[in-house]
Amino acid sequence: MHDAIVSVPEPINETVRGYAPGSPERAAVKAALKQIEGEVIEIPCVVGGARIHTGVIKDVVMPHRHQHVIARYHAATPEVAEQAIRAALVARKEWSAMRWEARAAVLLRAAELLAGTWRARLNASTMHGQSKTAHQAEIDSACELIDFWRFNVAFAQQLYTQQPKSSPGVWNMTELRPLEGFIFALTPFNFTAIAGNLPTAPALMGNTVVWKPAETQVLAAWDIVRILEEAGMPAGVINFIPGLPHGSTNLLLDHPALAGIHFTGSTDVFRMMWRRVAENIDKYATYPRLVGETGGKDFILAHPSADPAALATAIVRGGFEYQGQKCSAASRVYVPRSVWGAMKDQLVDTTQSLKMGDVSDFTNFMGAVIKQTAFDKHSAAIAEARETRGMEIIAGGETKGDTGWFVRPTLITTEDPMVRHMREEFFGPIVTLHVYPDEAWTETLALVDRTSPYALTGAIFARDRAAIVEATTALRDAAGNFYINDKPTGAVVGQQPFGGARASGTDDKAGSAMNLLRFTAARTIKETFLSPTDYRYAFLDAP
Ligand code: NAD
Repeated sequence: MHDAIVSVPEPINETVRGYAPGSPERAAVKAALKQIEGEVIEIPCVVGGARIHTGVIKDVVMPHRHQHVIARYHAATPEVAEQAIRAALVARKEWSAMRWEARAAVLLRAAELLAGTWRARLNASTMHGQSKTAHQAEIDSACELIDFWRFNVAFAQQLYTQQPKSSPGVWNMTELRPLEGFIFALTPFNFTAIAGNLPTAPALMGNTVVWKPAETQVLAAWDIVRILEEAGMPAGVINFIPGLPHGSTNLLLDHPALAGIHFTGSTDVFRMMWRRVAENIDKYATYPRLVGETGGKDFILAHPSADPAALATAIVRGGFEYQGQKCSAASRVYVPRSVWGAMKDQLVDTTQSLKMGDVSDFTNFMGAVIKQTAFDKHSAAIAEARETRGMEIIAGGETKGDTGWFVRPTLITTEDPMVRHMREEFFGPIVTLHVYPDEAWTETLALVDRTSPYALTGAIFARDRAAIVEATTALRDAAGNFYINDKPTGAVVGQQPFGGARASGTDDKAGSAMNLLRFTAARTIKETFLSPTDYRYAFLDAP
């Protein structure tokens, strides 16, 4: 359809299902979990719509039962990556010329498929592949990804609708062109929704993509490929190259047609890619857009007027849900002495009581951490705390890696607020707390601001309005997502656009118009209806 100015369906956040005993969603996801446990599927690369079996086989295991292989994937080789670039550039011709409503319809259909027939499967893949509980999978691989697809379509419409003024006899227009070249999307292990959003957001704006998911998220990533295929995503628009050796990513970064990077992952990897792009700057046909959301050292700061019970709950949920493996997870906490006295016991007792284990047992609040190297890193951080003067492990501290990579939720207090545990991202269930004298509130604000290079999320707890105003101002640059009396995790698409600045990224807010705009190059068109036919202006006339 060409001759219509259409409106897209009004997006509404997908309702989070409860998975209570006896519910149909619980039965469906349990059946899907069983199916995954009983099979070892083979996952190919997909380039230009063709499945490629490279023969370089890698295992996908369950982090909570790491001897159990649930899939094998064919890792991409450098040749496959080159083919993927070529396929993206070929597909770009038709896809970028297609009306945007047609591109949008593919994502809206994908959202419906995921909300319906694919929901249980993608949640189960995320549970077994990434060790998420049913609730954590539901808010990620079902609701957030459905929301990304539906809301991005509405944001795209808003962007395309914004037009410049025209004047008498002149018609001005702006079109948002896709970038010239291909987009390289690299996605992290911890959110299936991010894996689905990073390749599809640029695609919605008419770009074509080479997508490399994290090695530990390939099972759910493969489901996303199949959902998009079923939704009618044309061949070559999104090319799937799991397992490309890290050393070979330069092949994509060095390509003259690299038009943009859509990255979520750790800060070091993003910086490495940025450096490479900088070195290559003379080679490119256009300046590549670098969009990266990276690490965090997210804080909770309590004021003496904070509600102790609300604070304790925020620390437990914000610090330990999904084993602390959220970029937004609270990992450094500042509590005034008076509030600490009123909440310490509750916090320690609750933390000790958290049940951890296999995510197919729905009574578990937590699963395993993603891989051996993560387990080793967390174990080392706990051992270091045990040996450091002024630090004390007040809950957790145990690790057990024989069947699954399990790290108990761990609370550590520190007298020194500048220890490594308050500055560096561990990306695990480790929360370090500093108890400060009540009268040092203002100094503590300055401390929170300067302790870590990151600025992703942060939360303050206070009932005193003047303190809330003071903290909101003092911590203006300390977090891209700032929470008042709430945990610093759980951003919802369309409600709390997500991203941080400083070392945490380019703050382009995934799931917002700001993010989509980065994958476009505006063209302004001016048409003059009656063109001047004489070069002379009136002022040139003789008096
Ligand atoms: P990661 O950086 O290890 O991996 C991200 C992607 O980069 C993966 O596809 C991976 O294969 C690739 N990669 C890793 N090392 C590479 C290398 N040397 N060369 C080329 N590619 C490489 O991150 P992760 O462990 O998957 O995810 C956790 C990190 O992501 C944390 O730092 C977390 O804070 C961050 N994160 C940030 C956000 C956000 O919105 N700010 C959201 C989720 C995760």
